[in-house]
Amino acid sequence: MTTVREVIQIIEDFAPPCYQESYDNSGMQIGDASCTLTGILLCIDVTEDVVMEAIMIGANLIISHHPLIFGGIKRLSGSNYIEKTIIKAIKYDISIYSCHTNIDNVSLGVSFKMGEKIGLTRMQVLRPLTSNLCKLVTFVPNSHADIVRKAIFEAGAGHIGNYDCCSYNLAGEGTFRALESANPFVGEKNILHKEPEIRMETIFPKFLENTIVSALLKVHPYEEVAYDIYPLINQQKNAGAGVIGEFEKPMETIGFLQSLKTIFGIPVIRHTEIINENILKVALCGGSGSFLLPDAKKVHADAYVTSDFKYHQFFDAERLILIADIGHYESEQFTLEIFYDLLVKNFSNFAIHFTKVKTNPINYF
Ligand SMILES: [Zn+2]
Repeated sequence: MTTVREVIQIIEDFAPPCYQESYDNSGMQIGDASCTLTGILLCIDVTEDVVMEAIMIGANLIISHHPLIFGGIKRLSGSNYIEKTIIKAIKYDISIYSCHTNIDNVSLGVSFKMGEKIGLTRMQVLRPLTSNLCKLVTFVPNSHADIVRKAIFEAGAGHIGNYDCCSYNLAGEGTFRALESANPFVGEKNILHKEPEIRMETIFPKFLENTIVSALLKVHPYEEVAYDIYPLINQQKNAGAGVIGEFEKPMETIGFLQSLKTIFGIPVIRHTEIINENILKVALCGGSGSFLLPDAKKVHADAYVTSDFKYHQFFDAERLILIADIGHYESEQFTLEIFYDLLVKNFSNFAIHFTKVKTNPINYF
């Protein structure tokens, strides 16, 4: 039997909740994570119709990209679509879980998926997160250096870009004197001891601190483990907003816009003046991405594909970049494939459905 919690764990291992923006409300919206799962329904937005669909197909967990609950809710009287949706979900024991800006901000998240769909290569995060990394320094007797290193790597330390198991190790000498009530691994009580040790340093994302420290304490042989954790102001290259990537070879601008229409299934694109005949470098951001235009210009992208640009913001292209606004829902639609691919790999014993309800509130005429 699989619980809702086990499913959420898989998603959160991929898109840790700590990567969500401060204004966001990703996570469990409604329901009890300990209940047994009967099926999953994936959607971008949760509406009453989506909840109805879940009931009809016998799926008691809805996973959405946009959180159903954003602002504070003071009453549940069914006076708007959010309240109605909540009431229906509770009535029929449907759990709702949302994974929003955390899946925007992880590498291989929403914007990466868009890039993959249009065929970009060499993709990187456009605006990496900062101040999200820590350094761990610990001191280990030579005999236990390998086992400690292995344990902290397995707990998630030591990832830098396309490398893992990154650490720096320096041989030195530790000193300590075990006091009367101590039970030392080496040395004797009340005698100053010198021990050859390795100073081991590595890097990790802040949210893994407890996991890594527990792994360290579990395998380190000393009764009192000496370790330091430093906050870093480095950029975290594999997490942040938007992506930048390139086509294998330049693509004619008209053909590029046409391919966006086909791939994202949109009848019309709002875009700025075509200034270059070809497009090679493309910046992308799923959802409302006007805030990243300066970043896209800074890396000299030929085009910036996102949504929710306002009239005056189009002027900011300044004949330096082609802004292509492809619609909010359209830009994020493939996020459901990320959820699906993650879950289908781990659970084969129940059905995972894509919603058939059209939740995009915008129509084109
Ligand atoms: Zn969105």
